[in-house]
Amino acid sequence: MKYDCVIIGGGPAGLNAALVLGRARRHVLLFDDDKARNRVTREAHGFITRDGIKPTEFRKIALQELSKYPTIEIKNETIVAIQQLSKTEFVLATAGGHTFHSTKILLATGLKDEQPNIPNIERFFGTSLFSCPYCDGWEMRDQPLAVIADKNVYKLAKEAYIWSKDLAVFTNGEGRLELDERNRLLAKGIKVYEDLISGLEGENGQLRSVRLEDGTLIDRSGGFVTPLWSLPNQFAAQLGCELNEYGGFQTDEYGRTNVWNVYAAGDTAHIVPAQLVIAAGTGSAAAIGINGDLTNELFDGE
Ligand SMILES: Cc1cc2nc3c(=O)[nH]c(=O)nc-3n(C[C@H](O)[C@H](O)[C@H](O)COP(=O)(O)OP(=O)(O)OC[C@H]3O[C@@H](n4cnc5c(N)ncnc54)[C@H](O)[C@@H]3O)c2cc1C
Repeated sequence: MKYDCVIIGGGPAGLNAALVLGRARRHVLLFDDDKARNRVTREAHGFITRDGIKPTEFRKIALQELSKYPTIEIKNETIVAIQQLSKTEFVLATAGGHTFHSTKILLATGLKDEQPNIPNIERFFGTSLFSCPYCDGWEMRDQPLAVIADKNVYKLAKEAYIWSKDLAVFTNGEGRLELDERNRLLAKGIKVYEDLISGLEGENGQLRSVRLEDGTLIDRSGGFVTPLWSLPNQFAAQLGCELNEYGGFQTDEYGRTNVWNVYAAGDTAHIVPAQLVIAAGTGSAAAIGINGDLTNELFDGE
């Protein structure tokens, strides 16, 4: 069987795309290996009607909704390779050694978060250290917070200040703040530490203090950190897709990449701003692009 569209990724982008395509009576196969970016968190915020929902509950509701539509199939498997056989046929290989054919492909594979090289940081990421103030700033408002970043630390500190004025900025090495940026932070009463961080202390994911290389402990109950973001696979290179200035897939407003029949949605295309609702929205737009293109091809040819 050749599917109308194979979707890779079952985060909000892929799930919403499946919903729109299923409702348009398209034969859709969605692959997901359950590694959504926010799986490390206990709550997701900022999605209207779902503010504060557990990521597992969000996914459960989505799968229940998709189960109503008979042309949507879902497989809990990893896609390891995609090959273009012709302009209108792709073959996708799973880690388990199976292959599937499709006319169109939607990449909704999210992003890979790579934390700064600080011991223990993974223990706190998603429970008391977060990357996005819009997602988790409200819950940490007015608390003593750390802002930890190798890059873009000034931008992150300015954003975090809206949620708490009790900020300590950790550059984890010298030279990562311009002198005038440092002075502007100090003028707002924000403390700046440029020593290397030797570790983070706390229990059960709850940050208690940041330890500097000389052993000084700075008490903090949470904060923000900027990971490095990258694509979690080689599909862009395998398919010849162009990337945008942030390193995500370059698309038009309907998710079309520069390769005909390959579409992208969610964080993998729109690296910033990254939000569940934006990922779902771009998934919906890409599905409308895919369905519109299939319809035009049916009537007008390719
Ligand atoms: C710690 C943290 C907290 C966050 N909190 C919030 C919040 O409170 N509110 C908010 O709006 N946003 C939040 N975000 C951002 C939000 O998680 C992302 O914007 C959103 O998940 C992006 O959706 P997506 O569908 O593009 O990708 P994802 O949700 O990351 O989903 C991608 C899916 O694709 C699958 N996949 C990838 N490659 C393959 C493959 N080869 N084969 C099969 N499956 C594959 C993955 O397993 C994954 O399930 C947070 C992010 C982080 C890191």
